[in-house]
Amino acid sequence: MSSGTIKKCPECGQFFSCLGNEDCWCEKLQIPKRELLFILEKYKDCLCPDCLAKFAEKP
Ligand SMILES: [Zn+2]
Ligand SMILES: [Zn+2]
Repeated sequence: MSSGTIKKCPECGQFFSCLGNEDCWCEKLQIPKRELLFILEKYKDCLCPDCLAKFAEKP
């Protein structure tokens, strides 16, 4: 049973769940390494799906 952790997005304030491991939805997004480091540097945590999508590589 792994329901994940409920986190509050530091960018927009909405709540979302993050598993904090490789099974998490955030691992599935194609975020360039450079952007990922920037996010961790600035927010120190995962962002919600909406905000993270803004950093993801567009197809
Ligand atoms: Zn957000
Ligand atoms: Zn996550």
